[in-house]
Order: sequence, then C-alpha cells, then structure tokens
Amino acid sequence: MKFSDIPSHESAKQRLRDMIDNNRIPHALLLEGPAGIGKFALARAAAQYIHCENRIDGDSCGKCAACLQHQSFNHIDTHFVFPVVKRKNSSGAVVSDDYIGEWRDFLRDNPYMDFQQWLVSLDSPNAQPAIYVSESEQLVHKLSFTAHRARYKVVLLWLPERLNVDASNKLLKQIEEPFGDTLFIMVSNNAKAILPTIYSRTQRIELKRLPDDVIADSLITRYSIDETDAMALAHNAEGNMITAIHSISLSKESHRFLELFMELMRQSYQRHVKELKAWATDVASVANRSCVSWTIANGLYARISFTISTFRDSTI
Ligand SMILES: [Zn+2]
Repeated sequence: MKFSDIPSHESAKQRLRDMIDNNRIPHALLLEGPAGIGKFALARAAAQYIHCENRIDGDSCGKCAACLQHQSFNHIDTHFVFPVVKRKNSSGAVVSDDYIGEWRDFLRDNPYMDFQQWLVSLDSPNAQPAIYVSESEQLVHKLSFTAHRARYKVVLLWLPERLNVDASNKLLKQIEEPFGDTLFIMVSNNAKAILPTIYSRTQRIELKRLPDDVIADSLITRYSIDETDAMALAHNAEGNMITAIHSISLSKESHRFLELFMELMRQSYQRHVKELKAWATDVASVANRSCVSWTIANGLYARISFTISTFRDSTI
C-alpha cells in the first residue's frame, strides 16, 4: 500500500512523511477517526514507507523487496495485531497469528476494514472479538528479538479499544519503554474506549470523514456507478466508504427486485401461465443464492404461487 493509493488525508500523509523522513517517529502512534475512511490503509502505507529501500517523491517505491513483502502482507519485521475470538471447541489461548490466513484475505478484500466483514471472516457474526493477554505475551516475546532486515520493527495494531485490561497492562511496559527499534502504529475507530493508560502514551493523528466527491470518484472508478448515482450514494454515506459500498449492493438488489416485480405484473396481465411458473422458479433461485434476499423473494414466491393458483382456478 502506497500513500498514493489512498484517496484524501493529504495533511496526515505529510505529517507521517515528515516524521519518517526526519527519523522522528514516535514509538506509539495512534491514527484515530471514524470507521470507513482508510485509516488502516494509511498505517500500512506508513509501515511500507518506513521499510522501503528506495523511497521516491515522498512515497514508497512499490517495487523493492520490502515493498513486495508489504503488498503480500508478509513483511518479516511487520507484526499484525487485531481482535479475534476463541475458535469453537477450543479451550486454549488465542492470538492473531491463529487467524493470519483469514486476516490476509480480509486485508486484500477490505481496504476500508469493514468490521462486520471481519466478524464473518472469524465465522462469528455475533461475537465480540478482543485482543487477549496471550496476544500481548506473544508480542513481547517477538519484540525481544532485533529486527531481521529493517531498521525498525513495526506493530500494526487494529482497534486498540478492543485490548482487554490484562492485555493492555501487559503491553503498557512495551509502549512506555519500548525497544529502540520498535514502533507501534495503532488504528482506532473509537479512541474514547481505549484505556487511558495506553491512550495517554500515544502521539495522535486525527483523521476526518471522507469528502463526498472522494467517495463518489471511488464508486465511479471501482464500481462503474454512474455519476449521479455515485454522488447520491456518497452523500448518504456521510463520509464512510464502507456505508457507500454497502449501499451499492442494496441498490443493485432493489433494482433486481423491481425488474422481477415488473415482469410479474406484465406476465400476470397477459395471463401467461407458463411464463409465470418460470418466473416463480427464477425467484426461488434468487432466494437460494442470497440470504439477505431470502425473505423478500420468499414473499414474492408465495404471492406468485397464489396468483398462479387463482388464475388456474378462474380459467377452469
Ligand atoms: Zn520500496
């Protein structure tokens, strides 16, 4: 992830560049702000810039060995810490590394870090994931070794508000008296929920919601949404790219059901029984493909079945 891959947040990028270029990087940095604005992408871009072997024009090169490792979420001196849940039927301690495969897939598919999607990745849609003391213990052990190749080891910690009390206390010493080559970059959606002992020891960069035009541009280029729809979706998203992306799926789903409904009316009006049965089969298959759509499709399916039986009875 390069700085140039991330829309908006130009002043935050400049602050990060200045810190890194002048070698005045705080040992515990916190990027805080609302969800869905690209904070974790910015943290990743900063880590890549720190490790890049050939920085160019205030950005990482994207081509050196370190950049390539970052782009595959596999840099040897970068450690990811994120909230997890205990696996079903497991009584042992749980750490982020237990979910590293799911995490890499999640990062690849969710640059804006959709928390609900992370719950799906954890196979626990209703869970309250946390960062446990076992994580802090493992991290302290990892950080006791010097960096393998880079000057700095970087810990990218997603959602420090989900560190439980024991985990926070265990990590506190690392943050207060870190090894000289260790940098923490934390990313929070809700900084008020971070334990004050951790929060007060961070240097903070506050990020704002995304402007509507930035969201609209992204919807147009990445999702081929037309300009008018993109601006409307962006306005309703209130600066949150995750909300905007969800709206696209809902909008597409609504459009599909409107088409189905119009087809139903057309065939009913023309009394095309064979086509109406085909329509019912089509709706049933939609219901099978989409859990979200199931209730709506099932309702329509019941309605068309009733329409067919009524029509058949009236023609006998
Ligand atoms: Zn590079």
